[in-house]
Formats: sequence, structure tokens, C-alpha cells
Amino acid sequence: MPSYQAPLRDMRFCLYDVFGGDELATLPGWEDFTRDLIDPVLDEAAKLCEEVLHPLNRSGDEEGCAWKEGEVTTPKGFKEAYTLFKDGGWTSIACDPAYGGQGMPAAVNILVEEMICSSNLSFGMYPGLSHGAYVSLAAHGSDELKAAYMPKLVDGTWSGTMCLTEPHCGTDLGLLRTAAIPQEDGSYAITGTKIFISAGEHDLTENILHLVLAKIPGGPKGVKGISLFLVPKFLPDAAGNPGERNAVACGSIEHKMGIKASATCVMNFDGAKGWLIGEPHKGLRAMFAMMNTERLAVGVQGLGIGEASRQNAVIYAKERIQMRSLSGVKAPDKAADPIIVHPDVRRMLLTQKAYMEGCRALAVWVAKALDVSKKHPDPEVRKENDDFVSLMTPIVKALMTDLGSEVANIGVQVFGGHGYIREHGQEQYVRDARIAQIYEGTNGVQSLDLVGRKMPEGAGRLLRRFFHPVSEYVAAKVEDETMGEFVQPLAKAFVRLQQATGQIARTALGRPDEAGAASVDYLRLFGLTALAYLWCLEVEVAKAKIDAGEGDIFYEGKIATARFFMERLLPDTGARFSAIMAGGKSMMTFPDEAF
Ligand SMILES: Cc1cc2nc3c(=O)[nH]c(=O)nc-3n(C[C@H](O)[C@H](O)[C@H](O)COP(=O)(O)OP(=O)(O)OC[C@H]3O[C@@H](n4cnc5c(N)ncnc54)[C@H](O)[C@@H]3O)c2cc1C
Repeated sequence: MPSYQAPLRDMRFCLYDVFGGDELATLPGWEDFTRDLIDPVLDEAAKLCEEVLHPLNRSGDEEGCAWKEGEVTTPKGFKEAYTLFKDGGWTSIACDPAYGGQGMPAAVNILVEEMICSSNLSFGMYPGLSHGAYVSLAAHGSDELKAAYMPKLVDGTWSGTMCLTEPHCGTDLGLLRTAAIPQEDGSYAITGTKIFISAGEHDLTENILHLVLAKIPGGPKGVKGISLFLVPKFLPDAAGNPGERNAVACGSIEHKMGIKASATCVMNFDGAKGWLIGEPHKGLRAMFAMMNTERLAVGVQGLGIGEASRQNAVIYAKERIQMRSLSGVKAPDKAADPIIVHPDVRRMLLTQKAYMEGCRALAVWVAKALDVSKKHPDPEVRKENDDFVSLMTPIVKALMTDLGSEVANIGVQVFGGHGYIREHGQEQYVRDARIAQIYEGTNGVQSLDLVGRKMPEGAGRLLRRFFHPVSEYVAAKVEDETMGEFVQPLAKAFVRLQQATGQIARTALGRPDEAGAASVDYLRLFGLTALAYLWCLEVEVAKAKIDAGEGDIFYEGKIATARFFMERLLPDTGARFSAIMAGGKSMMTFPDEAF
């Protein structure tokens, strides 16, 4: 049975020591969000995740969801856990107090989300999708819609979905066919089939609010003709309770590789009553309000799963005895040494640690910028932070889910054959992590977003939000004796990033395929450089603590992990750089018939 313990110490280290989380309480209206308030929230979240959600992770995977005549039953224990989750106020922590939410900073919420994903990603999908629906409705819904639906969506009595995908269109939403016909009462009749809809049908809440992308006949072709609608499973009655059943039904659920306790549904809309959210034909914009938040949240899914796998790999590597150490016996009282003595096992464990702790710092960095972009009194500062979040969103989503998946795979390898069989739970992490690289825009599409939209935006204005602070940091610290071994590798990676950026910017103009061919390597080069910068910041804090006489194994571990990252993982930027500079000709001139 796998175990999970929320990494609260590292979470607090990132939030307070590295990113000055205490500043959150200086933002207008957030005076209450001091450590005294935030720490118990993190403690309580950890308790819920460790004691309630984690024990259901394995059984939920074994049992999965069941579909019968349009109804979906979640695995045993999920309903009770959801009630505890809802009654504890966890559905509302990141929601606006205007709708009954607790308005917690994103930098805190992202840590709670990590714990939920580590302990039970399938469970987390239900409130996660509701939150996505909440964000779109809050940003673009009319006052009437908000009044009718927000309070119950926020307190978790009702849940939400995001219905984009259709059988013939996933990435290319311009192809979608679901139709919305205007009705005399101002509503729309929605008809079409959506597939792969997470939490489309389940037994956790009394009503489900579907946010559906559809086309109003006569509108512009392609993505410019898409509108967003709210389609409740039950139409609210005069008292606001679930009333008449709407014409939307779950046709079946998917049998899939992972997150088996999350219902992935085919949803049939047959003239279902829906209401427009935002303006006609501006649905994609309304949906994108949700997508940035959701993409950060999906990035954190990679981190959460990777962290859970990592923790179990460490425990196993200390217990499992096999062979003797190459440098002589380490456990003479045992028949063999624990596998943690072997260089390759140490390489695997350190890779997991360096990637996941780096990703946690990345998540907190971007989430805090998101908070500042919303709450800072100076509009200039808000804009700068908004630009930064916009730039980093595809990196957080793709890098953290790719690394989460790699780390979960390493977690199986540490267990050897015992990782591949079901008993220890390591293989579930691999299966569960895999989807996060695909949904919410595949990671290939995130890379295109980075090079095609974020990179050229405002003639490089977004890029400067990352390049300027890193460049200033490198200039200030590269000669610093105590930091040199960390800052010099960062400086090298940063030069590669700058040169690759120039190369892509030059070629992309006339030959867009070149930018496409470079995009995935570029995102990884960018992401690893960001992690190198963050590891430098972590080392500085750790060194300061040690110098102040507060040192312990945690801070020693930080410095040693950063050293491993710089020496053994960051060199990957060299390979990525070479691939980018080689260009895309070898791919693009390859004849299709020869594949
Ligand atoms: C478990 C699960 C849950 C999901 N939950 C939801 C949900 O709640 N709501 C919802 O609406 N959808 C959901 N989805 C759908 C998911 O978002 C899509 O599967 C995803 O967007 C990819 O679409 P697709 O599967 O049609 O792949 P395609 O779009 O057909 O892509 C296939 C491949 O082609 C690549 N590709 C496509 N276009 C380009 C391009 N221009 N350049 C480079 N590469 C490209 C992709 O990266 C991918 O590798 C879910 C899917 C799964 C499996």
C-alpha cells in the first residue's frame, strides 16, 4: 500500500522563505492572509488528503466508475469523502467571497491542489472541473446566471464541467458541430455530442452545470463562431432547487488507462435548454478565462503525482536490500545492502527530488505572480505580473506534466519488478500522470502557444518578464564565490535560451514550420533554465539559514540537490539547444510514404 505525507516543510519553504509569501497580507483586502491563517489551512488540507483522500486512491482505481442507464456511480467511499470535502469548505477556498468563497491566494490554493493531486487525482477532478466552470462563469456570466448558479457551485452542492471536445475535434475547436438555436424566451436549444467530458455525470452532487461550447447558426466560420453556454442537468425550480430534468444525458463512460475513478463521459445534448455566457461568438475567449487557471492546475497534477511516486520510491530504496555496494559493504548485519547505496538508484531518487522540488517552486512563483496581477494597487505592477503569468502558463502546464510523468516512471524503475505489478501502487502513478500531458491542450500545443503566441506578443514584452530578472540575477551573482557553482551553469543555460529565442524569432517569420519544429525542445530549454534560476534562489535561502545557525538536513539537502540539478540535469539544455539549432528540415522534408 503506497503512503503519502504532504511535503509541508518544503511548501512553507517555497511560499514564505523563497517567495516572501508574507507579502500576500500586504495586498489590499488580504490583510487576514498572514501565516497564522494560512498555516492551519495547509495543515488541515494535509490531514484531509492523507487521511481521507489518499486511502481511496487505490480502491478507486481498482473499482473505477460504473455506468448504468445514464447514471454514473463513483467508487465506494467517494460520496462520503466528497461530503467531507464540501462541508470542510474546500470547494470554495479559491473562490470570490462575493459568491460565498474564501478568496484564498492562488499561491496557497496551488499547494492545496498539489496535496489533492498527490493523494487522489481522480477525486480532485470533480472539484477541479467545478472550479474551471466557476472561473468562466465569474468572468463572463450575466448577473442573473451568477445569482442563480454561483452560490451552489461555490459551496460544492452543485458541480461543473467543461464541454469542449467532440468526436472529430479536440485540438481544433473550429471544427465543432454542436448547435445552439436561439429560443423565444432568450435561452438556446443545444444539440450535439461531446466526448471525454470529465465529471459529466456522477453521484456526488445533486446537480451538474455543463459549460458547453456550441455554434449559433449564421455566425462566423471556425473558432470565431463559437459561443459558450450554461446547460444544467436539472433546471432550477422557482426556489432555486433542482427541478425539471434537462435534455442532456450521459451516453457512456470511457474505459481508460488511468484516473479510473474520474468519470470520463460521452454527453448527448438533445435540444437541451442553455443560456449564453458572455457575448455570442466570443465563447473561446470566455473559455480561455478558465483555461489559464486550469492549465496551472493541470501542471500541478504532474507535480502532485510525481511527488507521491517519489516519496514511495525513497521509502522503498531504504528498505529493499539487493547486492552489495560497489565501494564495500554498507549493512554488514544484513544479507545485502539497501538499494539506496547504488549509484543508479541515487541518480533516480535525486532526479525525482530535483525535478519535483523545482516544479513546486515554479508553481508557487507563478501562482504568487497571479495573485499580484489581481490584487496589487499599482496597475503597472499588475500588468507586469499578468504578462509573466501569461508567458509561464504553457511552461508550467507542459514542463510540470512531462516531468511528473518522467518522475512517476522513474518511481516504477526504483521498485524494479515490484513497481510494475499492482501491489505497491507505483504503476498507478504512471497511468494517472499520463493524461495530464494530453488534456487541457496537449503539451505539443502548449509549446506552439509559447513560440507562436507568447514569444512574439508585444514584440517580446512577455519574454522580458522572465529574461530581465534572470539576466539581472546572473549579472549580480556570477562572480559571487559562494554562488558561482550554481549561477555559472544557470548563466550557460540562459545564454542558450537567449540564442535559441533569437534563432526561432528569425526563422519563424518566413518559415513557421521551423518554429513548430523547435517548439517542444524550446519549451524544455526554457523550463529547465527557469528551474535552474529557482534552484539558485533556493540555495541562497538555504545558505543564509545555515549561516544564521539554523541549518539542518533540510537545508543541506537543498544545496546538494541544487548541485545535482546543475551538474546532472541542466546539461540537457545543451542537447535541446543543438536540436533547435539543427532546424526542422530533417523532419519536414521526410516523405510521408517512408514513415
Ligand atoms: C481522461 C480525459 C479527460 C478529458 N476531459 C475533458 C473535459 O473535461 N472536457 C473536454 O472538453 N475535453 C476533455 N478531454 C479531451 C482532451 O482535452 C483532448 O483529448 C485533447 O484536447 C486532445 O484532443 P484530441 O484527443 O482530439 O487529439 P487531437 O487534437 O486529434 O491531437 C492528436 C495529436 O496531434 C497533435 N496536434 C494536433 N494539432 C496540432 C498542431 N496544430 N500542431 C502540432 N500538433 C498537433 C496533438 O498534440 C496530439 O499529439 C479529456 C480527455 C481525456 C482522455
